[in-house]
Amino acid sequence: MNGSDAKWTIVGQGLAGTCLAWALWRRGVNFTLIDRGAGGSSRVASGMVNPVTGKNFEPSWRIAEFLPEALEFYADVESRIGGQVWHPFPVLRLAGSDKEWRKISNKLTEPHVAPWVIGQVAAPAGWSGAVAVRGGGRLDTRAFMDGSRDFFQQLGCYQLGDVPFAQNRDGIVWCEGAAGLLAGRYGPQRCAKGEILTLRADGWDKSQIRIGAGGWLVPQGGGLFKVGSTYEWNELDEIPTAQGRARVEEIASRLGGAEFEVVGHEAGVRPILRRSEPLIGPLAEGGWMFNALGSKGSLYAPGMAARLARWLLDGIEPEPEVDFRVFLQQTLADEAF
Ligand SMILES: Cc1cc2nc3c(=O)[nH]c(=O)nc-3n(C[C@H](O)[C@H](O)[C@H](O)COP(=O)(O)OP(=O)(O)OC[C@H]3O[C@@H](n4cnc5c(N)ncnc54)[C@H](O)[C@@H]3O)c2cc1C
Repeated sequence: MNGSDAKWTIVGQGLAGTCLAWALWRRGVNFTLIDRGAGGSSRVASGMVNPVTGKNFEPSWRIAEFLPEALEFYADVESRIGGQVWHPFPVLRLAGSDKEWRKISNKLTEPHVAPWVIGQVAAPAGWSGAVAVRGGGRLDTRAFMDGSRDFFQQLGCYQLGDVPFAQNRDGIVWCEGAAGLLAGRYGPQRCAKGEILTLRADGWDKSQIRIGAGGWLVPQGGGLFKVGSTYEWNELDEIPTAQGRARVEEIASRLGGAEFEVVGHEAGVRPILRRSEPLIGPLAEGGWMFNALGSKGSLYAPGMAARLARWLLDGIEPEPEVDFRVFLQQTLADEAF
């Protein structure tokens, strides 16, 4: 396989572009994967999968289908690049108030929630309740993307470069993350900037992901943790701020404790069109898009890449709810009202 006679060009090597490259490679199809080599949210992300999320303690959208597909995919990539990228962890969901705990505990036996629940556990001091959740973990996004880039580079399928949107678009699949959404190419965007800290905290619990206080704490190994995150909808840049750091330090103190050293501070922009529900499809002006992974790229990128590969190579269309053309029509219809 060599990218020089490639039929497909994938623009952007974040989670979307990398997963699509693997999906085409699995089918023995020639492609060129091009990335500008700077920025993007996949490098910043903690890569966490938390199966039951939010204030309402609801399973993520279609997780029962997408999670097994993602785990099979990451295991296969690990065997190709020779390194671990997926790290399974139980998730400890903490409730900060009696009201929040009532809401969570009322849902533990609901049929769509119960399969994810390991069980109620003793709440640490200062928390109203705690439940252990199964199926979680973290994708080491950098190991995944760097290992994949090296693999494709050796095959001659990877290039460093900045692809202007104006060039001939046939055969191009745009996987540019927030950069594409902020350029206004896909309709009204709802991107959200997030800041995260990398901490060293030798004494903290390394055995589970903690969720609570509006944030999360994810063990990275070697006494390091990632903690986040903020949500900011107006300043959509990748610049860390003092306010962002202060807010994330608050989350860290609540979830981990007062003793930590900040060793990294990064910001990125989550690519969002509607919640964290990704979209794929052809563009009216030519070419294809794969974007809008939102806050859950690790969970959805492999399954969406497989759907897009089937569409590109076999003409098999995915379910309408992930079809960008359907989304655009609905958005235009809503705007007309
Ligand atoms: C603070 C923060 C925390 C997060 N935490 C999590 C988490 O715990 N779990 C999770 O699943 N998700 C998380 N996310 C979300 C996750 O980062 C995204 O869902 C995912 O990374 C999006 O991947 P992508 O490939 O669409 O975009 P990106 O990762 O942004 O990749 C796009 C790539 O395309 C390149 N590019 C763009 N335009 C061009 C061009 N014209 N030419 C060449 N290259 C181009 C960019 O440089 C970039 O490398 C988080 C996001 C943020 C900001």
